[in-house]
Amino acid sequence: MATYKLLLLPGDGIGPEVMAEVEKVAAFLQASGAAQFEIERGLVGGSAYDAHGQAISESDMGLAQAADAVIFGAVGGPKWDGVPYDVRPEAGLLRLRKDLKLFANLRPAICYPALADASSLKREIVEGLDIMIVRELTGGVYFGEPKQIIDLGNGQKRGIDTQVYDTFEIERIGRVAFELARKRRNKVTSSEKRNVMKSGVLWNEVITALHKREYADVELEHQLADALGMQLVRWPKQFDVIVTDNLFGDMLSDVAAMLTGSLGMLPSASLGEVDKVTGKRKALYEPVHGSAPDIAGKGIANPIAMIGSFAMAMRYSFGQGAIADAIEKAVADVLAAGLRTADIKAGATKVVSTAGMGDAVVAALKASA
Ligand code: NAD
Repeated sequence: MATYKLLLLPGDGIGPEVMAEVEKVAAFLQASGAAQFEIERGLVGGSAYDAHGQAISESDMGLAQAADAVIFGAVGGPKWDGVPYDVRPEAGLLRLRKDLKLFANLRPAICYPALADASSLKREIVEGLDIMIVRELTGGVYFGEPKQIIDLGNGQKRGIDTQVYDTFEIERIGRVAFELARKRRNKVTSSEKRNVMKSGVLWNEVITALHKREYADVELEHQLADALGMQLVRWPKQFDVIVTDNLFGDMLSDVAAMLTGSLGMLPSASLGEVDKVTGKRKALYEPVHGSAPDIAGKGIANPIAMIGSFAMAMRYSFGQGAIADAIEKAVADVLAAGLRTADIKAGATKVVSTAGMGDAVVAALKASA
């Protein structure tokens, strides 16, 4: 059996609390013979700053480069608000994304039937929702040059950001979306603002050509990003895979997140390019939520987003779709049985702690093994 090399970076706040529940799931998979892990642990964010004066140490970066998958908790908190900009907690995550060249951010938005009432939308709009937002993560307006504030000398200043995309960047994110769609419901919605942006015109052309050349079997549609925002809250179940740039993806994935009810439920994956020699790709898996300093240390954080991120690692880094399915089904079973952490307690028959939720997921996995 293959051994999967994991680097666990719990980070700050509730990060270590929710990561402990992933360790329980990994231990169960290992003990039951379903998977074999070699696990390293490191520091990131404020905890790394306290230990090394950096948001991630060089040796932990080395471990991240060597790992098959990085499992990341969350970083940040008021304790580190005053630290220098270059070593602020978020710098650790940005360094990982940059050095591992993680250009594709996958954010599923799944609405478990048991939680449909936690959404701000009506049950019939969100129940059974299962969409995947693929966001380009390393290009576009967040990184384009020039990026500056110029003093115009007349009492005015000018802020400049540059939206820029090259053909290869659009093609490689398009490929990720089409490949994913083939394993799902075979539909891709590509989104940009070609009506007002040149980068949108190119995005549309490149995705259309790629589709025609390599993915004609997949249904492709284009929606302007503003219209797509509206459609996401009007009738989200029309979507399967949505592919879009860094800026629009940032916003649209947050809108999609709220369709599902709670931040504590949402996993994500960030993927690099497939290495032509080894066939492997660098990858980092993390919950969408932050370090939640308001509830850290209380044992009440919801570990489902973190456990779901681990399930995504099984699916996308290791090709273990059946194990990922089993973990996701265990989560659904626990919710259907009425167990909830405090953040999703509406409709609960029993409110459990972080550890209680992790134990229940492992028990459900065991029960259906
Ligand atoms: P947050 O996601 O940490 O918290 C927002 C709200 O959601 C809080 O009320 C929190 O208690 C709740 N929440 C979040 N995750 C939860 C969970 N698993 N279970 C139950 N409730 C949960 O966002 P924030 O408050 O804006 O930021 C707090 C800190 O986290 C800041 O320092 C911020 O910079 C950092 N942050 C880090 C990341 C990351 O590591 N990727 C992402 C976002 C924010």
